[in-house]
Amino acid sequence: MKADPFVQLRLLDLQALDTMLAQLAHRRRTLPELATIAGCDQRAADVRSRLVDAETSLADLAGEQRRLEADVDTVRQRAEKDQQRMAASGVPAKEIAGLQHEVTSLARRQGVLEDELLEVMETRETSEGQVEQLRSELAGVLADRSAAETARDAAYGEIDASASQRQAERAELAGGLPADLLALYDKVREVNGGVGAAMLRQRRCEGCRLELSGSELSAVRAAKPEDVLRCDNCRRILVRTPESGL
Ligand SMILES: [Zn+2]
Repeated sequence: MKADPFVQLRLLDLQALDTMLAQLAHRRRTLPELATIAGCDQRAADVRSRLVDAETSLADLAGEQRRLEADVDTVRQRAEKDQQRMAASGVPAKEIAGLQHEVTSLARRQGVLEDELLEVMETRETSEGQVEQLRSELAGVLADRSAAETARDAAYGEIDASASQRQAERAELAGGLPADLLALYDKVREVNGGVGAAMLRQRRCEGCRLELSGSELSAVRAAKPEDVLRCDNCRRILVRTPESGL
């Protein structure tokens, strides 16, 4: 392939733009905010799951408390009824003795239930504190995530503006290059980690950093300025400049 030496030099400008575009794309993919957001999502999932557990046990405790309160109520009403019966006139002595016995046992039962109720209420208070703490932990994680999203979007905006400017420059530059040279450059670039054209500097290919062998150098020296050269080692387009050391 042949191309005007000045056109070949333009390939290095095109390469510089493509390298910048690749760096911008890499920066976009590896923004630290993305890791922060992923970390927040993981933390939020963990806190949410613990919150569900805490809310479930809180609901259980509330149910337990209602049940105990109803039991205490039932026992108290029964005792009141017994007391009223005992206070009524004309109740046989035998029945009074029975009622007395029941009232005593009801009082004991009420005491046990009230102790249990107290314990449940204390546990419920602790559980409410846990739920409260997990809710505020979750809010904190979501706030961190939201801040990271804002920072990410600002970085995206900056990167995208820079990239579209470079894209426009690239389009203009590529538009001025011969189609066959551009196609070769794009093909080589695709299979060579984004670098299609490299400068020959001080007898070294800047693409693979290898110094050209004696026979390669002879071939390069013998080539015409308009010959499009390829590095024997990495196959990239080798662009000669006054710094090539030929
Ligand atoms: Zn090379």
